[in-house]
Amino acid sequence: MNAMSDAYNQLLAATIQHLEDLKSRGVRNVAVSPETLRALVQPAKSQIPNFKSEIKPFAVPGAPVSDPARTELPKRAGAETGAPQSVAEQSSLLALPGETVPASAPLNPKEKTAAFAALRERALSCAKCPHLASSRKTVAFGVGSIDAQLMFVGEAPGADEDEQGEPFVGRAGQLLTKIIQATGLQRADVYIANILKCRPDTPGQSAGNRKPTSDEMATCIPYLHEQIDLIRPKVIVALGATAVEGLLGKTIGITKLRGTWKTYRGTPLMPTYHPAYLLRNQAMSEKRKVWEDMLAVMEKLGMPISPKQRNYFLKA
Ligand code: URA
Repeated sequence: MNAMSDAYNQLLAATIQHLEDLKSRGVRNVAVSPETLRALVQPAKSQIPNFKSEIKPFAVPGAPVSDPARTELPKRAGAETGAPQSVAEQSSLLALPGETVPASAPLNPKEKTAAFAALRERALSCAKCPHLASSRKTVAFGVGSIDAQLMFVGEAPGADEDEQGEPFVGRAGQLLTKIIQATGLQRADVYIANILKCRPDTPGQSAGNRKPTSDEMATCIPYLHEQIDLIRPKVIVALGATAVEGLLGKTIGITKLRGTWKTYRGTPLMPTYHPAYLLRNQAMSEKRKVWEDMLAVMEKLGMPISPKQRNYFLKA
């Protein structure tokens, strides 16, 4: 199979999966623009989009960690339309090019809770990647509030997450928790998920992790799309280069990309460094960059920012 038909089949499979996911959520109709209808009747070759380009703790002085008066978040802003970038993103948007996702109306709280529980059940028994289904101990589906305005997306569970069935519980996760608390929020106020719900297997290795493959990410990302579409966060934070690649496709490096607003499924997305990077590189300047990204997120969410918070990691 050549690269083009391989990519087309991958796109087709992801599109079918997306439509099946919608169907399983009770969606019976999808809006298709006249351009899409025209494109769908073209020979398959012309429909192929061109995507080949294919601790030390977070030292937060005086962070309001134990402040009983927790930060309240204001309500959601309007959605924007983003250009499709990654394979999975393009597949989800194939039927709705140029249109904002999610297309469906928000569910009422009872329906939302039920839909989320059903989604979780499906993910927990998923065997789409047989090699991961057989090597995993658990499925780290996601954790936090399904009504969160702020959602964090990492790459994949590591050993600790695989053990506990929860994203970001190891050292990097503990640092992420501190970063969240430094904003005045608690872990339970936000939603935390990964692109991959299963730990990437490491056959023949007794320790260490591996980066998810693009096939694994494309296979698993419909679960994340459903999580995003149900939660409807106001802001998404993508943690690290692999998460950014899985969401936006291969773009410029994370060093250049971090701190710049993107849009993902109609939601503002802030790419920043992965907390594991901050564990490896203890420089204040790097912590400050992540903190600046979080300040931008707080501003976008309309959260109060104290002078102390503004000045974290700045030299006296
Ligand atoms: N790194 C991630 O990207 N996700 C986790 O859940 C843990 C570590």
